[in-house]
Amino acid sequence: MTAQLIDGKRIAAEIRAEVAERTRRLAERGIRPGLGVVLVGDDPASHVYVRMKTRACDEAGIHARDITPPADIGREELLGIVDELNADPAIHGILVQLPLPRHLDEREVTERIDPAKDVDGFHPVNQGRMSQGDANAFRPATPAGVQELIRRTGVETSGAHVVIVGRSNIVGMPMSQIMLQKEPGANATVTVAHSRTADLGAVTRQGEILIVAVGVPGIVRGDMVREGAVVIDVGVNRVEDPTTERGYRLVGDVAFDEAVERASWITPVPGGVGPMTIAMLLRNTVTSAERTASLVAAGAVAASG
Ligand code: NDP
Repeated sequence: MTAQLIDGKRIAAEIRAEVAERTRRLAERGIRPGLGVVLVGDDPASHVYVRMKTRACDEAGIHARDITPPADIGREELLGIVDELNADPAIHGILVQLPLPRHLDEREVTERIDPAKDVDGFHPVNQGRMSQGDANAFRPATPAGVQELIRRTGVETSGAHVVIVGRSNIVGMPMSQIMLQKEPGANATVTVAHSRTADLGAVTRQGEILIVAVGVPGIVRGDMVREGAVVIDVGVNRVEDPTTERGYRLVGDVAFDEAVERASWITPVPGGVGPMTIAMLLRNTVTSAERTASLVAAGAVAASG
């Protein structure tokens, strides 16, 4: 079998167009969704990523407010920035780009964000609510994007055995919670593998849907993929490649050339899961703005600009 490609760029563009339509409807009511992005320090890769987010926000009619304090910002000052964004009625989503410099406590900063504006879905209140089946809890963008890729490809998840490799708080763990939800695009039987899993191949070969988020290039080889499986490769790894201008290329965690011969559907890297992450962040932001708009209409909170 040769797999068909799951086109993350196309599906992400679809979602961004839906978000743009929702922001247009909000604009008719005088509301412009706002996303506050805090990027501490001058890591070039993070700056590139944040610029991509800002451009995607502009295109979708979302106002992005970038705040870029220096790497040596103090704890109180950073928490003060978060407090200010929490209190700003023109801001509906807050994103603090991780990782933070070592002298800052990521958990403390994440927990300072108002859960109602936590469009990254990393606040324990949102993670807890999601695990309890609350469909309104904000979900982390990457695993939510993976679910959307699967759903929009038309793959049935109900009753399917989904194997996830990786258990990070950003991808693997919330991915497992999402696939367990009682909802369309979930209702799966879920197995989670990690670095202590014995005989990884024996586990991954059980997956009718195999989601890999490890950060090791090609850790999942072709013979670890079940015949006909749907393979979602979250990994993004740089490997040296002197034949390219940049001297490197991006590869996933799945040995694509091998897995493509066994899978029924597969995501490429790049162009698979990657584009979905920003699209889902935008979607969470417009959802937050719509919720505020409903509260304003009900007279529960003050109107924003
Ligand atoms: P983490 O390093 O936080 O987690 C990696 C997970 O993989 C851990 O649970 C770890 O297990 C597990 N693992 C490590 N080695 C093995 C092994 N040999 N066998 C089985 N499991 C193993 O990474 P992230 O979850 O943050 O990211 C994973 C990948 O996804 C990275 O390549 C990252 O760049 C990419 N990514 C892509 C995004 C996108 O937008 N496309 C967004 C976020 C991440 P243990 O818990 O036991 O240590």
